[in-house]
Amino acid sequence: MYYTISSYCIKNWANSIKNKLNEYSIVMDENQISTFSHNKWKNIVKKHVEIYAFKPLNTLSTKMTKTKNIIYQELKTKEYVTKLHPKIAREAFKIRLGMVNLRSNFKSKYKMNTLCQKCFREDETLNHLVTCHTDNSINCTDIYSDNIETIQSTTVIIAEALKVRDQRLVSRSLLIS
Ligand SMILES: [Zn+2]
Repeated sequence: MYYTISSYCIKNWANSIKNKLNEYSIVMDENQISTFSHNKWKNIVKKHVEIYAFKPLNTLSTKMTKTKNIIYQELKTKEYVTKLHPKIAREAFKIRLGMVNLRSNFKSKYKMNTLCQKCFREDETLNHLVTCHTDNSINCTDIYSDNIETIQSTTVIIAEALKVRDQRLVSRSLLIS
């Protein structure tokens, strides 16, 4: 019984590692991996996870030549990219580069109508988004801080505000239709 369970677990574990290697495009077999030191292996995985986390943005960036250089600088030299959880780092990256769906970020997409669709009183900027859709009042320029914790807390609040706004838009469109 013990052997059945443990071999089953080992098989599962090995399979999940294999899946992860595929997911992160790490092309190596187990023999090769076994020759690496713990630290070397850790660094290889870390590098691939970073590439994986920012892959959708890299594809996007090739289409935006103007911001290509800024994107490169953000990914290569900014500490937050590697220190934060990949999901938060990716969100922070999008906010810092003005790539989140905000009317003031995409004026032509919204045909110059940048007004907040909740209060119709102010432009939908980051600061307005947060104060209009949540109880928080933060200075969203903190997203450009060099302090990792500040970037993280600012990112979480902005992401929450975006979520609340999107939920409002969806429920409103459901009411209308
Ligand atoms: Zn508003």
